[in-house]
Amino acid sequence: MRVPTYHSINQSDPDVHHNHNDCPSGQQIPAYNRRPGTNGWPLCRHCASM
Ligand SMILES: [Zn+2]
Repeated sequence: MRVPTYHSINQSDPDVHHNHNDCPSGQQIPAYNRRPGTNGWPLCRHCASM
């Protein structure tokens, strides 16, 4: 399902943002690393293909 954009503040994660809550990459972001918005980063490739 499409959700408001979010990204991870973990520096070991790719510099991308997500807009689907069922994204396999986005699902790996724990709540404490998840922040709203794009942070100026491009859309993740998994989200782009959903
Ligand atoms: Zn994604």
